[in-house]
Amino acid sequence: MLSADFARLGEEVREVQAAGADWIHVDVMDGRFVPNLTVGPPVVAALRRATTLPLDVHLMIVEPERWIESFVRAGADVISVHVEASPHLHRTVAEIRRAGARAGVVLNPHSSEESVRYVLPDVDLVLVMSVDPGFGGQAFLPSVLPKVTRLREWIDAQGLDVALEIDGGIDTRTAAQALEAGADVLVAGSAVFGADDRSRAIAALREAGRTA
Ligand code: ZN
Repeated sequence: MLSADFARLGEEVREVQAAGADWIHVDVMDGRFVPNLTVGPPVVAALRRATTLPLDVHLMIVEPERWIESFVRAGADVISVHVEASPHLHRTVAEIRRAGARAGVVLNPHSSEESVRYVLPDVDLVLVMSVDPGFGGQAFLPSVLPKVTRLREWIDAQGLDVALEIDGGIDTRTAAQALEAGADVLVAGSAVFGADDRSRAIAALREAGRTA
């Protein structure tokens, strides 16, 4: 929703729900972990009133553990924290689950899959950043694809129920690459919100998955 029109956010979210989106991905930035500021719990609460879709809240903030309760109370279904911002990652994901949400961990483009290896059985989602976090509309980094494939192998080998999500620069071409590498959840910003026909844009991303 970073690419949505914030002046009419409720309408925008209802529109992408009608257009076939599965989740609403909310990028929370604090101006410290990333050089940009976006939204906090009140906006998540407003989105909660506007849609029945799961709210997938991606925290790009320092000390994310301080904000878990507030975002769960606001209506977040999934809360993901960056490994680079969470020195006690195992404890933080346990706190997210205890608060009542599904727990995700996020890797910046330079971060190794090894940094989430030992929490894989304790999380519901791994999010691989395919751009440097902070802004919408950046170009996809294909260098992260081997990391997606390695994570897919680990998840499958252990028979885990962990979603593998990719975020940044997703369009129909990069969606196919990401799905082929092993991702099963795609975050699309400008590819959906910037499209004239959002139903068609979402359908095209799904189609990219079928042909990957
Ligand atoms: Zn995100």
